[in-house]
Amino acid sequence: MNEATEKVDVLIIGSGPAGYTAAIYTARAGLKPVLYQGVQPGGQLTITTEVENYPGYANGVQGPEMMVDFEKQATRMGADIRYGIATKTDFSKQPYKIQIDEEKWIETNAVIICTGASAKWLGIPSEQRLNGMGVSACAVCDGFFFKGKEVAIVGAGDTAAEEAIYLSKLCSTVHMIIRRDAMRASKIMQERVLATPNIKIYWNSETDEILGENKTEAVRIVNTKTGEKTNIPISGFFVAIGHQPNSDIFKGWIDMDDAGYIKTIPGTSKTNIKGVFAAGDVQDKIYRQAVTAAGSGCMAALDAERYLAGIEE
Ligand code: NDP
Repeated sequence: MNEATEKVDVLIIGSGPAGYTAAIYTARAGLKPVLYQGVQPGGQLTITTEVENYPGYANGVQGPEMMVDFEKQATRMGADIRYGIATKTDFSKQPYKIQIDEEKWIETNAVIICTGASAKWLGIPSEQRLNGMGVSACAVCDGFFFKGKEVAIVGAGDTAAEEAIYLSKLCSTVHMIIRRDAMRASKIMQERVLATPNIKIYWNSETDEILGENKTEAVRIVNTKTGEKTNIPISGFFVAIGHQPNSDIFKGWIDMDDAGYIKTIPGTSKTNIKGVFAAGDVQDKIYRQAVTAAGSGCMAALDAERYLAGIEE
């Protein structure tokens, strides 16, 4: 340990609804939390459009605007919000050590992990080769570039349904590639997709390859029932097949499931390490909502507060 070490009471890693809520609660409890925002300040909600289901916003709210509100509230309560990415962990003994931006170390007795989850990719070579050249995992971020053009989207969950509808308002046709003969999305979202005239669905279809040299020109899909391959001319290709938890730097220290979601003791935010708590999507593969993330951030703050006060282990 060198002079680039700082001691803090509570360290919060991540800045989605879970992180900011944990910051609001721990700040109000006088714990002077320090929060590092991570790679995507504001988290996944900064790449979404309208949020209609967060209680308290009677007329809905734009995701990025909501996260600015969260941050302002945490700051007003006295939380120390900082740019920076947690790059290494040492949970071998207290005080725990977390490295920030591969330079400085933070020492703390209480850590609240709220690092969220990130988009998954298909894993085919052309997807990486054409990333940024027509291939994207965020329709809301990049849909605008394909105004009036034909695009494809792969996936059949609520995210894919929401993004397909979003794209249908900008693009001439949205080709939706679905690997089974059914959608996973909620019934209301399925109905909206099916009722949108310029969304064309390809059931039982997988993406074989995305075609083009320096730009996306077509996608080749294969029907898994018949083996038939079809080329669809497109300018944009969107991947919307789910997410993976951002938990890599905690591997080997904290108990996780096979997919990398941090395990918490049911009904609490406690991990297998005393004084280390997890909240939000990094520990939740079921609900994954802004409001549930915020709720779990509150739980983590209260758990950390009790832990530091010596009331609970
Ligand atoms: P999901 O895991 O729900 O869905 C992923 C979809 O991608 C599934 O249809 C899956 O197919 C498909 N898929 C996965 N891997 C591949 C692959 N390699 N090739 C082709 N297709 C693939 O993820 P979402 O991001 O859609 O949603 C996550 C959670 O967030 C859900 O609980 C959802 O309800 C929620 N959500 C809620 C919203 C809201 O309330 N406004 C908005 C967005 C999400 P298969 O079905 O065959 O497994």
